[in-house]
Amino acid sequence: MMRRVLAAILMLCALASCSRQPVEEHAFLMDTWCSITFYDRGDEELSDEAFAILEEIDARLDRFDTGSEVARINAQAGLSPVSVSEPTYKLIKRAKELSVMTGGAFNPLMGAVSDLWGFGSASPSVPDDDEIARLLEAVDIDNLVLDDGAMTVYLADDRISLDLGGIAKGHAADEVAAFLKASGVERAVVNLGGNVWCIGQREEDRPWTVGLQDPSSQDGAYFTTVSVSDSSVVTSGSYQRFFIEDGVAYHHILDPATGRPADSDILSVSLIMDDSTMADALTTALFVMGSTDAATFCRQWGLSAVILTGNGEEIRIGL
Ligand code: AMP
Ligand code: MG
Repeated sequence: MMRRVLAAILMLCALASCSRQPVEEHAFLMDTWCSITFYDRGDEELSDEAFAILEEIDARLDRFDTGSEVARINAQAGLSPVSVSEPTYKLIKRAKELSVMTGGAFNPLMGAVSDLWGFGSASPSVPDDDEIARLLEAVDIDNLVLDDGAMTVYLADDRISLDLGGIAKGHAADEVAAFLKASGVERAVVNLGGNVWCIGQREEDRPWTVGLQDPSSQDGAYFTTVSVSDSSVVTSGSYQRFFIEDGVAYHHILDPATGRPADSDILSVSLIMDDSTMADALTTALFVMGSTDAATFCRQWGLSAVILTGNGEEIRIGL
């Protein structure tokens, strides 16, 4: 069950007929199925270039890849600052800012705690409370030390490790969408397992209709739709990755306050905004907050969101 990735986290509903047949390209990257669907122009060369961008980002940010920049930072935790490339530095800085903005609900320093649970390994299991507590003590965003001038990243405690899993796909979606737009693409959908970028409109004067996956459905059915133009739709949910031990499901979104899977009443939370990087970090944080605090946060920041709770309530904000 672990590392089982649901390819169609969001299902696109092609409700309209289109003069040109859409062309869809797929690749398994960033630990998920990625697709790009071109509705106006698009050729194999363009999609190859787009997937190459994803591969390059993954190669820099995948903490399980020993050659990545994030792995190099983690190897030097508690030892020394590590010099990184500009895009990696900027993303890490963004992650730190978003951690502060969410009061720590999003915290990119949960890598070591996540490893304790074995998320990302073949045999995850529930760890001892003492072990969680020992690592959690060091999970403080101030321990992510950034130097703008030298462009170095330093983890000031060897009990933490950097995990950009909650923000990297949103960032990658932004980069690919920007590349496609700069290449003249006006209508396309980039779907990186839960991070969708809808470029332009479905047709002239006709927005895209994006279905949000029903967490209880095995066949990609959706519980509602949202209408979007030139925007990203990002979803976090406990149903996306989990393992079962003694009949209890343990999902991959951890509460930095407890070091355990967030005890949230949210099943799925989506944000609709043109900054997929921000949306990715925020949906992870909103999930941790639970529906009441998440709704307050969205209203406070003027965000457009759909929250589905465990008792079947659908909360729409700003839509
Ligand atoms: P997402 O699917 O975007 O909600 O992100 C979940 C992923 O982010 C997990 O697989 C972890 O790699 C990482 N993660 C888990 N909990 C947190 C958290 N509270 N803050 C930041 N990243 C997290
Ligand atoms: Mg996220």
